[in-house]
Amino acid sequence: MPGPRLSRTSTGLTTELATELVELLRADRLASGEARRLGARLAEPPFRGPNALRTTLRLLRTRAPELFDVAGHPAERIGELADELATGYAEGMRARTRREQQAVLGAVLRTRREAEHALRASEKRFRTIFTEAGVGIAIAALDGRVLDVNPALLRLFGGADPRSSPRPITDHVHPEDAPGLVTELGELAGGVRDSLRSEVRFVRPDGVVVWTYLTVSLVRDDAGQPDYLIGVIEDVTERHRLRSRLRHQTYHDQLTRLPNRSLMDAQLRWAFSEGSPVQRVGLCHLDLDGFRSINDTLGHQIGDQLLLAVAHRLQLLAGEHLVTRAGGDEFAILVADPPGVEYLCELAQRVLAGLRPPFVIGSQRLSITACMGIAEDAVTDTWPGELQRAADAARSWAKAEGGGRWAVFDAVRDAGETSRFTLAASVSGAVDRDEFHLLYQPLMDLASGELTGVEALVRWRHPEYGVLGPARFIELAERNGAIVPLGRWVLTEACRQARRWADRFGSAAPYVSVNVAPRQLIEPSWLAEVSTVLEDSGLDPGRLQLEITERAVLVDEPAASETLRTLREMGVQLAIDDFGTGYSSLSYLRRLPVHGLKIDGSFIQGLCAAGSEESRESKIVEALIRMAHALGLVVTAEWVETAGQARWLTALGCDIGQGNWYGDPVPPSELDALLRRPLAG
Ligand code: C2E
Ligand code: MG
Ligand code: MG
Repeated sequence: MPGPRLSRTSTGLTTELATELVELLRADRLASGEARRLGARLAEPPFRGPNALRTTLRLLRTRAPELFDVAGHPAERIGELADELATGYAEGMRARTRREQQAVLGAVLRTRREAEHALRASEKRFRTIFTEAGVGIAIAALDGRVLDVNPALLRLFGGADPRSSPRPITDHVHPEDAPGLVTELGELAGGVRDSLRSEVRFVRPDGVVVWTYLTVSLVRDDAGQPDYLIGVIEDVTERHRLRSRLRHQTYHDQLTRLPNRSLMDAQLRWAFSEGSPVQRVGLCHLDLDGFRSINDTLGHQIGDQLLLAVAHRLQLLAGEHLVTRAGGDEFAILVADPPGVEYLCELAQRVLAGLRPPFVIGSQRLSITACMGIAEDAVTDTWPGELQRAADAARSWAKAEGGGRWAVFDAVRDAGETSRFTLAASVSGAVDRDEFHLLYQPLMDLASGELTGVEALVRWRHPEYGVLGPARFIELAERNGAIVPLGRWVLTEACRQARRWADRFGSAAPYVSVNVAPRQLIEPSWLAEVSTVLEDSGLDPGRLQLEITERAVLVDEPAASETLRTLREMGVQLAIDDFGTGYSSLSYLRRLPVHGLKIDGSFIQGLCAAGSEESRESKIVEALIRMAHALGLVVTAEWVETAGQARWLTALGCDIGQGNWYGDPVPPSELDALLRRPLAG
C-alpha cells in the first residue's frame, strides 16, 4: 500500500493522522468507533480547535482521491467518515470541557470548604478563582434561587443578572430542556445524587438562546445534609453552530444545496429501522436525459446552472417529500407511507411534466426531459439497498424506452432480466463446455417439392434451465460480444454437418443456411474465419448460405457491402433474413451483392389470419416476390404453417418455403430419414 503523501507542512495534518484516515477510507467497512476516536483527537493538543477539524474535513471532501490515493472510493464513505469525525470531535470537546470544569469545580469546592473551615485567607483565594474563571459559576439555593454569580456568568447571560430575579434558575432554561433539568436538580437538592452534567440551552432575557455545558454539584453541610448548589456553565454555542454547519455540509450537496445521497441513505436506514413509524417507503429515482451533451456543448458552468434550476423546480414539484441530489444529473424523491403506487405514478407524471417547460439560463432557453424509476414496498418486505436497486432498474427501463418517461419496478420483469443477463454472461463459458447444439429446419423447393436446404438454428442445453431457444440469449450475447465465439462454433458445426451430408447424399444433399449476427459482420477477423472453416470442413462454399439481417447491413452499408462482396467472391450464398421488418429499402437491395431474401414470417402469418387472397398481406407478399424476382433474387417464405399458405405461395411463384408445414427444426439424425425421400408440398 503506498504511504500517504501528506506532511504536516503541506496540509496541517500529521503524517500519523493522515495514515489513519487512509486506513479508514480503504477498509471494506467504516470503523465508526475508530473514526470517532480520531475526531476526538482533533479536539486535543497538538490540534485542538475547530480549525483542525475544518481542515481535515475540507481535505477529505475536496482532495481525498488525490491526496489519499483512494480514487474511485465511494463518495458516501467520505461523507460517512466526515460525519463520524465531526461527531467524535464534538464528543472530544465535551470530554475536554468536562475535565476543565472538573478542575475548576474541584478548586472552587476545595477553596469553599477551606473557606468555611479555615476562614479568611482562603476566602480571598476563592474570590479570585470565582471572579477570574473563564467559565460561568453560580451558587444557588436548593430551591434554585441564584445566590451568587461570577462575571463570566453575567457575560454569558448578556449582562442580565439572574440574582436580580426572584425566579429559580430553571426559569431561564429553554422549555425543551427544562423538564429534564428540573427533575435532576430536584434529585440533587434532595440529596439523592451529588452532581449532574448536561447540555442545556438557556434563554437570555433578551431572547437569545445560549447552548451551554452545565455541571452542578451539591455542597453538603457538616452534618452531610444538602446545603446549596454550585453550577459551572460553559458557553458552547459557537461549537454547536460549527457542528451544525459541518453536519449540514456532510449531508448536503454543495451546488444545489439539496440533501445529498448520504442523507437519503440515512433517512432510508431510519425508515427501515426498528421502531420507526414508517410502514411503506416509495422511492423515485430521476435521471436527466442527455445532460452530458449540455455539459459538452454549452460548458460545465451552464450545466451547473441548469442542475441548480432543475433542483429548485424539483423541490417545488415534489411538495412535502424529500428531494435529494444523488450525484451528477441524478435526483431522488423519497416518499414515506405513500397511499399507493398510483400516488407515486401521479407524482412522477407531475414531476416529468413540470420539468418540460424550458429553463432560462442566462440568455438561453434550455429544454430537458428526464426519466424516472419508481419502487415502492413495505419496510418489512425489503431493505434500503434493494429498494434503491429496484428504483434504479425501473429507471433504466424508462431510459431504454427512450427517456422522458417513468416506469414502475416489476419484480417479474426484473427476475427475467437478471437471469437473461446472467445467462448472456455465461455464453462464452458454455461454448467451451460444449453446451450448444444445432437443429436443422427444412427449406423446401416449392416448384419441385424437394428439400433443398436447411437452416441451422442454435439451442443451449443449459445445466440448470434445460434447453433454451435463441430468444433467451442471442440478443444479449450480441451486446456483450459473446456472439463472436458462439457464432464461430455454429458456423464450424453447421459446415461440418453439411459436409457429412454432402459425403452421404451427393448432389441431393441440402445446403446449410447459417444466421450471422450484425456484430459478427463487423468483426475484423470474421471473413478469415469463414474461409478457414470452409477449408477445414472441405465444404463446397456454394453449399453454405449466410443469413444477414437488414439491421446488420444498415449499420455501415459500405463496409457491409464490402464484406458481402468478398463472401460472394468466395462462392458463399447470401440472403437477407426477416425481410420486411427493418427498413426494407429496395434501393439497397439492388446495391447489395445478395442472392436471396427471406420474407419475414409475420407477413406469411398475416396471410393465414386474413384467410383471403385479397388481404393486404397477400398483396404485400405478392409484390415482394415480384420485386425480388425482378432483381434476380431467390425468395424464401418463413413460417409457412398451413396447406393454404403453402399453396398460395407456390402459386405466386415463391421459390422456397420454410415452416412447421414442411418440418420443424430437428436434430441432424432426423433429417437423414427425410433426405431419402421427397417431402410432401
Ligand atoms: P430466424 O433466422 O428467422 O429463424 C427462424 C425462426 O422461426 C426459428 O426460431 C424457427 O424455429 C422459427 N420457425 C420456423 N418455422 C416456424 C413456423 O412455422 N411458425 C413460427 N411461428 N415460427 C417458425 P428460433 O430457432 O427460435 O430462432 C429464432 C431466431 O434466433 C432466428 O430467427 C435467428 O434470428 C436467431 N438465431 C437462431 N440461431 C442462430 C444462430 O446460430 N446465430 C444467430 N446469430 N442467430 C440465431
Ligand atoms: Mg434465419
Ligand atoms: Mg427469419
